Amino acid sequence: MDLDKALGLIAEVPDFPEPGVLFRDLSPLFADAAGFAAVTDALAGTLDPGVELLAGVEARGFLLAAAVGYARGLGVVLVRKPGKLPSVAGRVDYALEYGTASVELPAGIVRPGQRVAVLDDVLATGGTVAATGKLLEDAGAEVTGVSVVLELAGLGGRAVLGGRSVHSLRTC
Ligand code: 5GP
Repeated sequence: MDLDKALGLIAEVPDFPEPGVLFRDLSPLFADAAGFAAVTDALAGTLDPGVELLAGVEARGFLLAAAVGYARGLGVVLVRKPGKLPSVAGRVDYALEYGTASVELPAGIVRPGQRVAVLDDVLATGGTVAATGKLLEDAGAEVTGVSVVLELAGLGGRAVLGGRSVHSLRTC
């Protein structure tokens, strides 16, 4: 399946999770074998040179990182919401529109100097990926870049990520 057709499988859900928000639901894409393969291959092609490990952001980033990792012969580290990991290397809190969120990294997985790429489904305000990048760098990793399926350009995530190498399969 070509990439445009694959990305066309993403559903747009008005007023979720709250009124006025247009939520991009990747469920139909993940459920379609050819679509999922096309997106996996495209993301695999965005990795910057020398990547040694993929960081998948909970939860849809896990699926993407696992698939791309298999395609490229790379392992995956899971960047998790709080309270899920038995042993934590670090935690970064970040602001949401209302309230805060946090991401945690498992202890003893990322090596100092290791070149890590971040994968997630959607880049919106950039808060999640920025926190993930800081988490990895606090652990001594080198973040090579960020790869996402969709970038919601109006929310300014790319600017929040400053000079990071950001790859999105589609900007909308
Ligand atoms: P940000 O931190 O960039 O504002 O939001 C990105 C995070 O929220 C990602 O982990 C992503 O999964 C989730 N997210 C935000 N908006 C959407 C959306 O429209 N669709 C999906 N699937 N996830 C979203």
